[in-house]
Amino acid sequence: MHTPPTWRIARENARLIGYRCRRCGFIEFPESRKTCKRCRAPSEFEEAQMGVRGRIVSFVVQHRLPEGFETPLPLAVIDLENGARVYGQMIECKSEELEVGLEVEADFRVFYDDAGLRVYSYKFHPVRG
Ligand SMILES: [Zn+2]
Repeated sequence: MHTPPTWRIARENARLIGYRCRRCGFIEFPESRKTCKRCRAPSEFEEAQMGVRGRIVSFVVQHRLPEGFETPLPLAVIDLENGARVYGQMIECKSEELEVGLEVEADFRVFYDDAGLRVYSYKFHPVRG
């Protein structure tokens, strides 16, 4: 049976598990590949727990979205402390607080609720204190 991509990566998403290249150590996320993006060689990958803290590399704040979305909706590209790059929603912060280099931490919670089917994933909030 073919499993939809959402379900295949659900476990990895929920725990921020990436795949480390056995040749160069680069971490792929969210899926493992047959060829490494960094060393460009066919490789084997092993599961790797990614860090929960990182820094914002780039961000956007969406103000106009289809009905059903809360706005403003801040989204950021984040380099995690172990080198993996992820894309995620920012929470518990004002748009004005966002800046490149801001230290953030992943928080695992319900990402969306599809007709009673809860999908857990991560969101990021600024590191406080
Ligand atoms: Zn590699």
